[in-house]
Amino acid sequence: MAMSGGGVGNGNGNGNGNGNGNGMVSGSFGRVAMSKLRLNPDRDHKPENYDDLQLDFSPLLFKSLEQYLPPPMLGVTRDSKLHYMRDILLRYAPEGERTRVQRHREYRQRIMSNYQPLHRELYTMQAADFFVPSFLKAIAENTVESFRSIVAELTPGVYAFDMLRPQFCELLLAEVDNFERWVHDSNFRIMRPNTMNNYGAVLDDFGMEAMLEKLMDDFIRPMSTVFFPDVGGSSLDSHHGFVVEYGLERDVELGFHVDDSEVTLNVCLGTQFSGGELFFRGVRCDKHVNSETQRDEVLDYKHVPGRAVLHRGRHRHGARATIAGHRVNLLLWCRSSVFRELKKYQKDCSNWCGECKRQKKERQRQSVTATKLELLKRGGKSNT
Ligand SMILES: [Zn+2]
Repeated sequence: MAMSGGGVGNGNGNGNGNGNGNGMVSGSFGRVAMSKLRLNPDRDHKPENYDDLQLDFSPLLFKSLEQYLPPPMLGVTRDSKLHYMRDILLRYAPEGERTRVQRHREYRQRIMSNYQPLHRELYTMQAADFFVPSFLKAIAENTVESFRSIVAELTPGVYAFDMLRPQFCELLLAEVDNFERWVHDSNFRIMRPNTMNNYGAVLDDFGMEAMLEKLMDDFIRPMSTVFFPDVGGSSLDSHHGFVVEYGLERDVELGFHVDDSEVTLNVCLGTQFSGGELFFRGVRCDKHVNSETQRDEVLDYKHVPGRAVLHRGRHRHGARATIAGHRVNLLLWCRSSVFRELKKYQKDCSNWCGECKRQKKERQRQSVTATKLELLKRGGKSNT
């Protein structure tokens, strides 16, 4: 059992169709976040200056709000205060959904008009340059057999296969380095991929949206149609694409969680690292997300550069600490609006949730036993 104290987290991303980027919403500040804002401002506290940052709220607003922070927050770094206050503002700002979408569009435009891509060839789908021949062949054939022939099913519902060419990995790694350098040099405040990562970048925000949409449409949806028909695999219609970086100077590990996706593609890009294994602990619906792991649901997987892992978003997982080196992974969270809509009316998740399945089996077993007992009783009676 790998569940740590708080149970399973939910990695929220650029989700729910609002296109507003990551939701740095809660949980990241532990105890401190639990305390409330002061009723009266601390007039003696001298707030930080936020003028040099590109923010989604006015720097002045942050400056005034800072005096209302709970005392333990006043001593933390400017960045931490900023996250904390942005969290509050996002929750209470009376912004309509449309405004959020509009803001996010502007945010993307600001990046795209300022950021100079290093390798432009990464920004349009060049399948022959991106993927290894075995993967291309399976996709071209597009049959159950062709997909089965390239994957290893590590545990039910987790498929691993060779996908990216080493040259592509190298180019994308260099591009990611270029992002980070640009973010650092320009002081541009980028939205990180989700609530759990402090490093990494949303590729969709950096101009790769069209390329990743094609990756989902032409490559991941055909495979998901075969492997994940039960969670909308054939109707994937939106995505959130990002890279995460691990290592001693990056995020170290990632807690046990489920993704905000129907299907997740996770490909290691490199480079040299030790540790960082992925662990899986069974697929669960919302209701059962913290239920116990069965012995046959335990899987630990070691990343190999270029090799992809494809799984249901609801497959509980986490990443162990990357203890040396630097590891970068490409993630594509694929969503199905049809599945999400249908899920509202469906109570039975036993075709994909491990716990629902187990409980259903248990009920069937009990009813069979009861029927047998009843028959025995009747048989006994007629014989005497
Ligand atoms: Zn369930």
